[in-house]
Amino acid sequence: MKKNIHPNYKKTVATCSCGNIINFFSTINKESINLDICGVCHPFFTGKQRVVDTSGRIERFNKKFKNF
Ligand SMILES: [Zn+2]
Repeated sequence: MKKNIHPNYKKTVATCSCGNIINFFSTINKESINLDICGVCHPFFTGKQRVVDTSGRIERFNKKFKNF
């Protein structure tokens, strides 16, 4: 392997909006980055579903079929 062709890996701290802090090595020339979502708070990993429907469609649906 040739020398000096590898990117300079730096220790980076990623801070998620949920408060989780992840240390990793990356080629990003930053010491810290901010994440909106991480492996801890991601719905896939938490098993919780984010309520995407904010327009009240579910509510309307329930109302419609309440007297069914
Ligand atoms: Zn997170």
